[in-house]
Amino acid sequence: MKNTDLIDRLLKNRNLTDEELTGVLLCDDLKFNEYLFEQARKVREEIYGRDVFIRGLIEFTNYCRNNCYYCGIRRENSNVLRYRLSEEEIIACSDMGYELGFRTFVLQGGEDPYFTDERIVSIVKKIKEHHPDTAVTLSIGERERESYQKFYDAGADRYLLRHETADKSHYEMLHPSDMSYEHRMKCLKDLQEIGFQTGCGMMTGSPGQTIDNLICDLRFIQRFKPEMVGMGPFIPHHDTKYADHEPGNVGMTLRLLSVVRLMLPEVLLPATTALGTVDPHGREKGLMAGANVVMPNLSPVSVRKKYQLYDNKICTGDEAAECIRCMSERIERTGYRIKTDRGDHVRYREGCENDGK
Ligand code: SF4
Repeated sequence: MKNTDLIDRLLKNRNLTDEELTGVLLCDDLKFNEYLFEQARKVREEIYGRDVFIRGLIEFTNYCRNNCYYCGIRRENSNVLRYRLSEEEIIACSDMGYELGFRTFVLQGGEDPYFTDERIVSIVKKIKEHHPDTAVTLSIGERERESYQKFYDAGADRYLLRHETADKSHYEMLHPSDMSYEHRMKCLKDLQEIGFQTGCGMMTGSPGQTIDNLICDLRFIQRFKPEMVGMGPFIPHHDTKYADHEPGNVGMTLRLLSVVRLMLPEVLLPATTALGTVDPHGREKGLMAGANVVMPNLSPVSVRKKYQLYDNKICTGDEAAECIRCMSERIERTGYRIKTDRGDHVRYREGCENDGK
């Protein structure tokens, strides 16, 4: 078994050397892992108690102008049945979610030019008018700073944009040449400067990823200090060139969750659907490794199966009410509980907005 002193030092200093971090990420010793997860849970509970924040995910378009090589809904996949929800349908999803207790809505989609800045602004404003006590998170990819500013001014609170990999050459392996690592990084910087609670993130086990890439991701996360970090295992999609690639490792994903929790104690960390897809108890394990957010799907069941970034995605068949009931039971079995709350990062709690940024 590896020496747990390493974990104690990570807990105390919020940092380790590259070599030590590599040792932690690669160690699958059961006792070592249990100790790591336990420390991450303690830190999470000191800040967020036993609450799990829920976000209502509305996947409103699977059109995308991009062609990320790993993604099932990329532009060149002609086998995808494309859909867009209308503004009315999106608002109806949020109304239904509000009734079910959601106080954050995540509007997620491909980079769909139909959804101009004006259309997004209108949707954000309407959700905020209907439900002023909710937070709106956007996850609609790369735009220019002026667009992000418009969304923020319209009332959007948070923005998720996975950086995917902090290593430029790895980024260029996963994306075609019409996408730019520099632009992705600029978008993240712009979002943070504008004042969004900002989320980055990456897949574990993505094609070509090395342990050094993951260390590079951790160093980026430490520098960037995001409010949220979305990390799930890579899962192949049959219509991509990585169809036969191995999925990401659950243990590695859990260790990364714990390490990020120990490095940035206040961070909001989702136990992702991808984690629940590669392991039937993956989301519960994620919560036990330091995660504190889950994102049940509020999209109409009729479109769920069409939003397949990867194969075998779970939770595509049940109505939202059923999803939330199932999720509550799963969470309660871990000893945690769902919190009906916007679930802001602690720095953005009422009265301390932008404090310390
Ligand atoms: S990962 Fe996102 S940006 Fe890339 S093709 Fe898929 S939906 Fe589009």
